Amino acid sequence: MIHKIKNYQPVPAAENQYSIPFMEKNRTLVLREDQDEILVGVEKRDPDLEDILIRYHQGAEKNVKFVLIESRDLSLLLARLVSDQGLSKGTLEEDQRSLSLDHLAGDAPVINLVNSIIMEGIEQGASDIHLEKFRNRLVVRYRVDGILHVGRELEPSVFSYISSRIKIMAHLNIMETRLPQDGRITVQLGSDEADLRVSIVPLTGEGESIVLRILHRTMAPMGVDQLGYSESHLRELLELAEKSHGLVLVTGPTGCGKSTTLNSLLRHIYTPGKKFISIEDPVEYVVDGIDQIQTNDEIGLSFSSILRRVLRQDPNVIMIGEIRDRETADLAIRSALTGHLVFSTLHTNDALSAVPRLMNMGVEPYLLASVLKGITAQRLVRKVCPVCGKKRELTEREREIFKSAGMAAPDRLSEGIGCPQCDNSGYSGRTLINEIISVTEEWEDLISRGDGRDALRRNAREKGIESLLADGLTKAAAGITTLLEVERVVKS
Ligand SMILES: [Zn+2]
Repeated sequence: MIHKIKNYQPVPAAENQYSIPFMEKNRTLVLREDQDEILVGVEKRDPDLEDILIRYHQGAEKNVKFVLIESRDLSLLLARLVSDQGLSKGTLEEDQRSLSLDHLAGDAPVINLVNSIIMEGIEQGASDIHLEKFRNRLVVRYRVDGILHVGRELEPSVFSYISSRIKIMAHLNIMETRLPQDGRITVQLGSDEADLRVSIVPLTGEGESIVLRILHRTMAPMGVDQLGYSESHLRELLELAEKSHGLVLVTGPTGCGKSTTLNSLLRHIYTPGKKFISIEDPVEYVVDGIDQIQTNDEIGLSFSSILRRVLRQDPNVIMIGEIRDRETADLAIRSALTGHLVFSTLHTNDALSAVPRLMNMGVEPYLLASVLKGITAQRLVRKVCPVCGKKRELTEREREIFKSAGMAAPDRLSEGIGCPQCDNSGYSGRTLINEIISVTEEWEDLISRGDGRDALRRNAREKGIESLLADGLTKAAAGITTLLEVERVVKS
C-alpha cells in the first residue's frame, strides 16, 4: 500500500541522517523518528537498500520500518529538504549587499558560514578543503580519503566575503587579490588542535582558488601495526628501522601517507637513550621526545641548511622530510656514512626508481650502495565500507588482472554499494599497499655497478619480491579494498 505523504512531516534536514546525494540517488528519506522507531520512506521496496539502512541504523537500537511513498511526493519532500539547507545562504546575501567588504568579513553570518565550512571539513575527516569560484557558481570541495567531493555549492557573490574572512583569520592582507598568499589558522577542537595551512592563489579572469590543508597537530601518528602492512612486510620494515646506521627511504607520490609512515616508525623506535631529529615540511604530527624542525624557505631554512646545522648536535636518528635536490641527497648520504640512521622520502613511482633518481641527482653509485639499507614504496587505498560492502562474483576482466600478475583469482570480491555511512561512495577509511626491498649484498653489487631500473626490476622479480600491485591484489582478494582502487593508485 502506498502511503499519502500528507500524513508525514519530513525530518528537518539538520536531523536527517542521510546526505542529500544519498537520498536523491536512492529515492529515500527518514519520515519520522521517535523513541523506538525510525520510519523510512522509500519509492520502491529494495531488499538490498533496506538491508543497508537497517545495518546503518543498528547503533540506534530502534525498529526500522519502511513505507512506500509516491514518487511525486518523494520528489517534493526532497526538494523541500534541499531548500531548507540553502536558507542560511539566502539570509547572508540579503544582509550584506550594501555593506563594505572588510566590515562584512567580520559579520556574524560570514563568520558562521566560514566556521561551518571548516567544521564540516574537520567532521568529515577531510585532509583539505578547496574553495573555488567559477563563473556561475562557488564550490566547496572536501578531500576525504584522498578523493575530492563537492560539499556544498554557494551563491558566487559571497566568495569575496569568504575570501576576506579567511585572510583575516590567517593574518593575511585582505586587499591583496593579485598575488598568491600563504598563512595559517589554528582551530581549537575540544582537547585537539587543528592547524590549517592556507594557500590562496588568484585565478586568471576573476576570483581565487583557496585551499585549506588540515593538520591535527595534537593527534599522535598511528601505531606501525595499524598502518596496513602485511605481517611479513611489517617485519621487514621494522628490521630496517632498527638498524644502527644507514639510509632508509619511503617513496610514492604526494599524499600517499609517506610522512605518516615515517612518523609512526620514529615513534616506534624512539628511545630516550638516543637523540632523534626530524626536519619536516610541514610538521604534521607532534611526536614526544623528537626534536622537530620545520623548513621555511622564506627565511632560508631549507632541508639542507637545517641538516648541516643539526649534524653538529650529533643526533643518532635523523628524519629528512624529502630529498629534493643534490645538496640534501649528498648530506643524507654523508650522514648515513658517518654512523647516523637516516630516514627520508622521495617522489618516485616505485621503490627501485629511487636508485636511478638519486644517481640522477649526482649521488655516486658506490656511496649509495654502501649506505642504502632499504626502500619501500606505498600508496593509500580506500577500504570497502563495512556497512554496505557485499561479496560478488569476478568479471572476466578481473580474473585476467589476477592471472597476468601470476596470482590465483579469489572466488569473490567485495564492493560497497553505497550507504549513508560512507556518503554513497562505497568506501570508508584507508589502508596502505606497499612493496619493500631490503638491500642485500647482491643488491649492493647491482647498485654500485650503476645498473638501471630495468635491471633492478628484473632482479626483484627473480627474487620473488612482491610488487605494489601484487600487495594491492592480495588486499582486494581479501575484501579489504577493490580492484578499481588498486588500479587507480598503482597507476598514479
Ligand atoms: Zn557504505
